[in-house]
Amino acid sequence: MALQIIESCVNCYACEPLCPSKAIYMSEKTGHFRINPKKCTECEGDFKDTQCASICPIEGAILDALGVPINPPGSLTGIPPERMAEAMAELQAH
Ligand code: SF4
Ligand code: SF4
Repeated sequence: MALQIIESCVNCYACEPLCPSKAIYMSEKTGHFRINPKKCTECEGDFKDTQCASICPIEGAILDALGVPINPPGSLTGIPPERMAEAMAELQAH
């Protein structure tokens, strides 16, 4: 089982040094960090929490083995997704 980093990754480099399996790498193909599924152990045996998802500041950038965001929208900012959508709409209206 492995986690996945998707294109919303902002290349902040926070996760890469924390990975106990050295599974995180910069992909030249996609231009953002990715996880080698053959190396990712989901941190089992090393840490209780998946280290990359624990530090990643971008909601939705890391998915679990089922493709579900580990930090879904609102989980880090504390802003409910509906409220964020309203605020963005208000900003765009001006
Ligand atoms: S879940 Fe753990 S082993 Fe897998 S990429 Fe993230 S830090 Fe590395
Ligand atoms: S911590 Fe998140 S945003 Fe930063 S490089 Fe890793 S996946 Fe990308």
